[in-house]
Amino acid sequence: MASPGETAVLWFRRDLRLGDHAALLSAGERAERVLALFVLDDKLIKPSGAPRLAFLYGCLRELSAQLGGRLLVVHGDPAEEVCRAAKSVGAKSVHVTADTAPYGVARDREVAKALERDGVEWVETGSPYAVTPGRVTKPDGDPYKVFTAFYRSWRERGWHSPARTSKSAVQWIKPDRELSIPDAPELGGMKLPKPGEKAALKLWKRYLDEDVNEYDTARDRPDHDATTRLSPYLHWGCVHPRTLLADLAERRGGGAETLRSELAWREFYADVLWHRPDAARRNYDKRFDEIQYNEDDALFEHWRDGRTGYPIVDAGMRQLLAEGWMHNRVRMIVASFLVKDLHLPWWFGARHFMRNLVDGDLASNQLNWQWVAGSGNDAAPYFRVFNPTTQGEKFDPQGDYVRRFVPELRGVAGKAVHQPWKLKNRPEDYPAPVVEHAQERQVALERFQQISRGA
Ligand code: FAD
Repeated sequence: MASPGETAVLWFRRDLRLGDHAALLSAGERAERVLALFVLDDKLIKPSGAPRLAFLYGCLRELSAQLGGRLLVVHGDPAEEVCRAAKSVGAKSVHVTADTAPYGVARDREVAKALERDGVEWVETGSPYAVTPGRVTKPDGDPYKVFTAFYRSWRERGWHSPARTSKSAVQWIKPDRELSIPDAPELGGMKLPKPGEKAALKLWKRYLDEDVNEYDTARDRPDHDATTRLSPYLHWGCVHPRTLLADLAERRGGGAETLRSELAWREFYADVLWHRPDAARRNYDKRFDEIQYNEDDALFEHWRDGRTGYPIVDAGMRQLLAEGWMHNRVRMIVASFLVKDLHLPWWFGARHFMRNLVDGDLASNQLNWQWVAGSGNDAAPYFRVFNPTTQGEKFDPQGDYVRRFVPELRGVAGKAVHQPWKLKNRPEDYPAPVVEHAQERQVALERFQQISRGA
């Protein structure tokens, strides 16, 4: 029962929703009146790319509208701003969803300390994951390094049912300042998904009704575009994975099962980062510190602009620039191409992704890049080098995905689009391959053998 007259602050971060919100439940149990707060923190805002920021600002506007304008958005240092907000309403507690990423952990430690000095309690409830990172461990307490073992244990451990929360869980305090969300940054024509909780739930409901049964068979096909597209919403917490898992538990079949395991990859990588925060910037597998990379700006630019001469790679890179999103299979192909065909460091690609993805997420991005590069935990074996032509032919068999994003090749019918260099009338405005795959594959393998021998 909330104490009569008591006030609290609910500091929103990556939990921009009102449904299934454990921290909101906790604030409502404690206080009668709650101030909803979001802090625009330069340390997170400045390195964020335009798509992610535009989506975030949209989500904040949606949340504010859901709260009837009762969302205080301030710009500044979190420790100062949260303390100031708590003082302004006489709050006895500040409630948050735990942030388990490296910067969030350090920031929260400082904010909690500053609040303690003011006699305000810091209350963490839940996390952006079904199971809070760090909680699934081997019997001896060590973290899992292999996904399948993590997955088994994660499922056995289980998670809470969705928290039954809504706008009316508490009485929201009217902020003493006007809403100040910056205008969306310039996106150069990029079209982003509709932000916010309502859009996330609508998308999810439609997916459950129409597409989930085909997820396992169609998810690898970029031409079918058959995945949920929930990644930006999951990143900002417009929907909690528990909500999705509860719906999936009521379904039978391979589609629901496979989707559950994909959601678990997100949880796995957050867990890995929790145990190894250094893996956000460095090789998880230290042997890879010795691998030889090139630093060729011109090749990087070809890759970045989608002008490598390998159609599936170019289509993926152009989808990223057009939509701020790329299909998972194609993310793997373009990442492999950067690391194993162009021999550029994985972090060049990871940085470009983080700047341009609307779903850019430190744990999922850096550790998926390392999975492809071979330097991660439970990574793809380095010697398995994706062939961009056969990958294209297998996963985009009619070439529809390529033609959607590479207009120079629209006149080429069927799967011939994956080998334009073989065409009699090669489209002149489409580049020839910047490297020869078979040759670069050998170079990649030799470089890998050098570090394996040294290990
Ligand atoms: P769906 O197939 O519908 O899957 C549902 C959800 O499961 C996704 O929204 C995501 O939260 C999770 N998921 C699925 N696959 C993975 C995976 N391999 N790793 C982690 N979570 C997964 N995902 C991000 O959210 N942010 C990133 O910055 C990101 N960077 C990536 C970089 C590379 C090089 C690669 C290979 C993958 C990356 N992924 C990233 C994972 C994956 O590509 C996206 O989550 C997925 O494409 C998002 O589309 P969706 O929501 O339709 O996915």
